Amino acid sequence: MDHFLYRDGVLHAEDVPVADIAAAVGTPFYLYSTATLLRHYRLFDEALEGTDHLVCYAMKAASNQAILKTLAAAGAGMDVVSMGEYLRAKAAGVPGDRIVFSGVGKTEDEIACALDGGVRQFNVESEPEMAAISRVAVQMGKVAPITIRVNPDVDARTHAKIATGKSENKFGIPIARAREVYAMAAGLPGLKVVGIDVHIGSQLTELAPFETAYKKVADLTAQLRADGHDIRRLDLGGGLGIPYTRSNEAPPLPVDYGAMIRDTLGHLGCEIEIEPGRLIAGNAGIMVSRVIYLKSGEGRDFLILDGAMNDLIRPAMYEAHHDIVPVTEPVPGAEQQPYDIVGPVCESGDTFAKGRMMPPLAEGDLVAFRSAGAYGAVMSSEYNSRLLIPEVLVNGDQFAVIRPRPTFDDMINRDTLPQWL
Ligand SMILES: *Cc1c(COP(=O)(O)O)cnc(C)c1O
Repeated sequence: MDHFLYRDGVLHAEDVPVADIAAAVGTPFYLYSTATLLRHYRLFDEALEGTDHLVCYAMKAASNQAILKTLAAAGAGMDVVSMGEYLRAKAAGVPGDRIVFSGVGKTEDEIACALDGGVRQFNVESEPEMAAISRVAVQMGKVAPITIRVNPDVDARTHAKIATGKSENKFGIPIARAREVYAMAAGLPGLKVVGIDVHIGSQLTELAPFETAYKKVADLTAQLRADGHDIRRLDLGGGLGIPYTRSNEAPPLPVDYGAMIRDTLGHLGCEIEIEPGRLIAGNAGIMVSRVIYLKSGEGRDFLILDGAMNDLIRPAMYEAHHDIVPVTEPVPGAEQQPYDIVGPVCESGDTFAKGRMMPPLAEGDLVAFRSAGAYGAVMSSEYNSRLLIPEVLVNGDQFAVIRPRPTFDDMINRDTLPQWL
């Protein structure tokens, strides 16, 4: 459920007509709904009610300061994967003891930065990284709390680029070697083992792969405790999928996910952490774009938009589907026709949809890409020297630009010339 609905024939974001924002901000732009962000965060928080838990928003999905502040104020922790994300979380006022540091290759600078500012735990991904964390902690006279990310060799049955829990993926330590690596961790002076971490992929549309992985984590918890490790925290990663179409696609609900977590892990008495990103931000954001031209090709009509693959790369990168809807509600029973919906970038990959059935559209019309809140703005680039597009946040009947559109001078003047030119 989200708060982007037609009202009186016009798409609204909560109580604000999307066309009003387009008139004020210009197109294209990202638009987020506060109520939807909070609703999704609370679904997770409530799903784990009665269990000691922390929902750490995976901020790589959408990391604008205003989004982080909104979620942090509701009680969310943050899952970060770089120093930039760590500093963004701190800048949004998130205390260090609510920041989990994930990521496959943390550098010594990143480790030192988080130890200095405070961190709930590092999720360790390899033995050399574990040694580095210990070394940096000892140098700083600190002890680093860690979990070790185990790779449970489970097929998440999702897109290959976002599956992370198979043994051939670069993530974590094979679960079969976990006891050996935990023994190594216990021998390192700068570390304190606090738990186990697992994350098997993104956009999962069934609970079964999670359940398989979590059962393996439950077994491992018992083994590690028998080995003398103090396993008190289980970080279960993110990955719950969202519906990208309005049809019959129905990924599991957070409440069922929470119940499954309790069933598989509740008896262990561990604190539970989860790291949802997509499910919190995905359907809380849209990208609004304008039709520049309507071009008739051979046997097909192209809608050429002012938004492009550099603004929203998911279709080009993951073959992702986004529902694209006109901002003015089509009249009931309006005839539909197929369009190839494309951006202006000089690549055939700059195609959002082929043969998409849409009501007739004209130059100047506004369209909205639904489900664009996660892995949208954060993955955008200036390819073709197109400016990064603004981000806007709605809250009830108010809206605010939360990242302005830069000027062309801003973009050009970031370059510096060598002295010989
Ligand atoms: C990407 C990622 C997440 C979030 O995944 P979603 O599918 O957006 O919920 C959580 N944890 C880790 C370690 C990740 O890499």
